[in-house]
Amino acid sequence: MSQRDASMGQHDPLVIVGTGLAGYTVARELRKLDGDTPLVIVSRNDGSFYSKPALSNALAMKKAPSELASFDAQAMAAQLRAQIWTYRQVERIVPVEHAIVVDGQRLRYRALVLATGAAPRRVPIEGNGAGDVLSVNDLHDYVRFRETLALRRSVAIVGAGLIGCEFANDLIAAGYAVSLIDPADAPLSRLLPPEVGAEYARALADAGVDLRLSRGVSAIVRRESGYRLTLTDGAVLDADVVVSAIGLVPNTSLASAAGLQIEGGIATDAWCRTSAPDVYALGDCAAIEGRVQPYVLPIMHAARALARTLCGTLTQVVFPVMPIVVKTPVVPAVIVPPATPQGRWTIDVGTHDSPHAARALFEDPATKRLMGFALLGAATADKAALLKQMASGAGS
Ligand SMILES: Cc1cc2nc3c(=O)[nH]c(=O)nc-3n(C[C@H](O)[C@H](O)[C@H](O)COP(=O)(O)OP(=O)(O)OC[C@H]3O[C@@H](n4cnc5c(N)ncnc54)[C@H](O)[C@@H]3O)c2cc1C
Repeated sequence: MSQRDASMGQHDPLVIVGTGLAGYTVARELRKLDGDTPLVIVSRNDGSFYSKPALSNALAMKKAPSELASFDAQAMAAQLRAQIWTYRQVERIVPVEHAIVVDGQRLRYRALVLATGAAPRRVPIEGNGAGDVLSVNDLHDYVRFRETLALRRSVAIVGAGLIGCEFANDLIAAGYAVSLIDPADAPLSRLLPPEVGAEYARALADAGVDLRLSRGVSAIVRRESGYRLTLTDGAVLDADVVVSAIGLVPNTSLASAAGLQIEGGIATDAWCRTSAPDVYALGDCAAIEGRVQPYVLPIMHAARALARTLCGTLTQVVFPVMPIVVKTPVVPAVIVPPATPQGRWTIDVGTHDSPHAARALFEDPATKRLMGFALLGAATADKAALLKQMASGAGS
């Protein structure tokens, strides 16, 4: 930790903002190394611990929203030997004073960890129904979503990225009529090469998803029951419920108001250190060495390293090869996106004698080194071997 005025007490707590996976995992990892440091965790939600990835397959898992939280804030406080301040909004960070302001109250910190997550992206859409569109990015949103689904039959999902596709699969399997709309010409367009995306689209369509690709939504108007969506090609579509899944924007406003450097997320170096002394960031809010990685595995790796740093052993975050697993049982997908565009895809659709199986390898053309891959359906069985190959730096 940096040198600072000795009057900034050794007795000030370590403060974590956020009780999502990032905030709680740092706290857990810290407690494995240090049982004593006073710890205060502040959250504007109820502080319950739940698995966010479970939100997009809870219907298939036959889980009611009330079953998704494994521990409430009180149980977490006991486990972590921490004070957990729930429903409290951090308003300001005052780095020069090593303090935050929480609902008007000043709280000094010895070190501050920002784990403030991200918020659903919004784009302006015309029509009196646009404000009713739901986004699901936390358990509270999910409770509302499930309440809204009751007695409804059809759902239009705007955005065919990972979360949109997972919800589409979950809803179709639960008997809802689902339309999935995206301006790209294939789902998961930022993760899959086009031919594999096309196969993934066929699998969703075979499962009954009404795919509306290569177009967006220009207006949403309320009907007597449900909504009418006008798409950018002029087509109309009726649905009882509309969900937006067009991506997340890191929550950086607290950090930027305090003068911290922002680079798409709260900018940190490879040690999760922000540009302010003793202030760290990780999770969906953070751009660690310029990359926002809003997934579970990067958070676990960052949290483990950061906990060691907070305990006095400066530890760099080293990310291994981390596959993205798309939880769509009708066509499971596993992807390691290439870190650079310099390379070439070799694509094999219809492998493994199995419907919708596909295997795409991204290689450096000169060295034949494997730099990424995308697997669909039965080809996902190749994941472990390909990860091993990538980790060893071998060619295909
Ligand atoms: C539906 C869905 C499915 C997903 N599935 C997968 C998957 O299969 N695999 C995978 O790897 N990833 C998946 N993800 C992504 C993964 O869940 C997230 O990357 C991860 O949960 C983010 O955790 P976080 O702690 O950074 O953020 P969050 O969980 O968003 O937590 C942010 C916390 O900050 C608090 N906070 C924010 N601002 C303030 C403030 N000013 N004052 C006080 N508190 C504040 C909030 O109350 C909250 O507690 C999925 C995400 C979603 C939405």
